[in-house]
Amino acid sequence: MSLDFAKLPKAVASRLAKLGIRQPFDLVLHLPLRYEDETHLYTIADAPMGVPVMVEGTVEHADITFRPRRQLVARISDGSSELFVRLLHFYPNQQQQLAEGKRVRLLGEIRRGFFGEEMVHPKVRSVGSETPLAEALTPIYPTVNGLAQPPLRKLVNQALNHCVLDDTLPEVLRHDLGLMPFDAAVRLLHQPTPDTAQRALSERTHAAWLRLKFDELLAQQLSMRLAYRRRREQTAPSLRATGLLAQQLLASLPFGLTGAQTKVLAEIRHDLASTHPMQRLLQGDVGAGKTIVAALAALDAIEAGHQAALMAPTEILAEQHYKKLSQWLAPLGIEVVWLAGSLKPAAKAAAIARVESGEAWLAVGTHALFQESVSFARLGLAIVDEQHRFGVHQRLALRGKGGSPHQLMMSATPIPRTLAMSFYADLDVSVIDELPPGRTPIKTRLVNDARREEMVEQVRKVCSEGRQVYWVCPLIEESEALELQTAIDTHVALSESLPEYRVGLVHGRLKPAEKAEVMAAFARNEVQVLVATTVIEVGVDVPNATLMVIEHAERMGLAQLHQLRGRVGRGALESSCILLYSAPLGEVAKQRLKVIFETTDGFLIAREDLRIRGPGEFLGARQSGVPMLRFADLERDTVLLEQARDVAGTLLDHHPAVVEAHLDRWLSGREELLKA
Ligand code: ADP
Ligand code: MG
Repeated sequence: MSLDFAKLPKAVASRLAKLGIRQPFDLVLHLPLRYEDETHLYTIADAPMGVPVMVEGTVEHADITFRPRRQLVARISDGSSELFVRLLHFYPNQQQQLAEGKRVRLLGEIRRGFFGEEMVHPKVRSVGSETPLAEALTPIYPTVNGLAQPPLRKLVNQALNHCVLDDTLPEVLRHDLGLMPFDAAVRLLHQPTPDTAQRALSERTHAAWLRLKFDELLAQQLSMRLAYRRRREQTAPSLRATGLLAQQLLASLPFGLTGAQTKVLAEIRHDLASTHPMQRLLQGDVGAGKTIVAALAALDAIEAGHQAALMAPTEILAEQHYKKLSQWLAPLGIEVVWLAGSLKPAAKAAAIARVESGEAWLAVGTHALFQESVSFARLGLAIVDEQHRFGVHQRLALRGKGGSPHQLMMSATPIPRTLAMSFYADLDVSVIDELPPGRTPIKTRLVNDARREEMVEQVRKVCSEGRQVYWVCPLIEESEALELQTAIDTHVALSESLPEYRVGLVHGRLKPAEKAEVMAAFARNEVQVLVATTVIEVGVDVPNATLMVIEHAERMGLAQLHQLRGRVGRGALESSCILLYSAPLGEVAKQRLKVIFETTDGFLIAREDLRIRGPGEFLGARQSGVPMLRFADLERDTVLLEQARDVAGTLLDHHPAVVEAHLDRWLSGREELLKA
């Protein structure tokens, strides 16, 4: 039977498209949400209550009653017993179907109700005396308005007949892994026989589900590793350095590197020396000291005769990096240039000119760094801070500048192991798993919003000790204007309550120069209290700030809270974070606040975050470029994920044809995204 999408009625095609179905094979992978069992008929007397059952009988009596409200009530008997059917909304054809003397099959749950044992709104089917039972469970598919189950079922059946469902895995391998054949697995999921373990189906632990999940995870592993290999095949300048400049910088610092920093630096250096571009993700919790590692890597690049660039997602953060790096590198005679969207045209042109001529060895800025008009004389290393903030397109742009530079991506959002293994399988990962010594743990308190006044006193006390305070205003997703207003109001209120101190305000609407000015004043302790929207989330470093108050903490995500809290506790001073919340708390908010209260371990927080939110949100901008998982669940299917990873390695090395066939089945048309 042929199934030609081009010949489907437009309306059907567009509804299918809404479901992500654009070709016959997409229908094969459009798996049921659940099943109805129409393979077995109960007698009314024997049918269990409260679970879906099918019974069949004759309508003894039917009537529209008005008590307790208007409804169609029919009494059905099958000889063993009787049962009422109630329809609260109904059409004339349903009245006909349930007219006296008609024979019907009812699928629904029997409960004790107003009239006795009853089914409310069961699925009703008119039958003759010999209508056969279904041979398979009836699949119920995810669908959209205007596309009913029967036509969708028909399309799926056509697709199952039309598509090639051969196994993509070699028989021996499939056998070793104990996996069901693909063909049998999809057929079973679409049309399970009555003896199929229904619990395993609904919990997705059935062998057929495991096969699909494995295939999906394998496709993801293959595509990510393939993307990795393709990028690795490009050439990059070998940035082999004696490390002389790096040593000079280290000698000028008031601290030595931690063991973890030394270890990741060695990993980075090893990659930089290679003639293939590095693609490394440097992970380290907030305050772990990633910046100095980036600076040392940049110095190696520079010593090897190439330029380096450091890009940060916000201007505040980029500027802070610029200041720090200039301060570190200027004594070594290395020119650092600043490039951001807010620069005046003349200044920008001058900065671009210095990057192009190669006089500027290190360029620091926002994504302005990677705009069309900027071309580096000899870019060797591109560093991206808080990489999860950038999408695939920006990563693309970054590679486009002057061949293939080495890439170092940094992230303070710790990635749980399963995510790293799956969605980040196209990168090498280095982890700084140790904080610099001498940090005092941050104390976290959960405080009801009603006690806000006391918190203002707390702020006064901290300021009187010469310390500084962040006061973070709530995130208001629905309205940026409201968010801004709240920040302004808070600023006014705190200024009035704390006349003896200077209170600053920073929010997303300020011009970058204004923002920078406020931040600089805060860094110099000319401003003691900084009222801020969540724009300060990333990277800001003022060690003298020891108190952070976060308003409406219940509205924020775990990762965000963790990042915010990481703005304090940056020096040896004891710091605290007060999470103001307004009761009553929802379940998810309660869970989140509990986690953030109980631990400061970024990895643990990330794991909990993944559990609470799932990977979609976690991945942020990244997800746009990576095939998402529809069937597998990273929490529950860790074993399959590990198997898929191992198998992917073997297949890529020894069975290119298998790789091609498998990717073609699972990703056809979507590979482009992966080349980023
Ligand atoms: P993050 O990893 O969050 O970007 P930073 O690079 O901003 O962290 O470092 C946080 C603070 O720790 C900075 O003030 C930095 O100078 C300091 N720091 C970094 N490494 C060390 C170290 N080995 N010993 C002491 N302080 C360090
Ligand atoms: Mg940082």
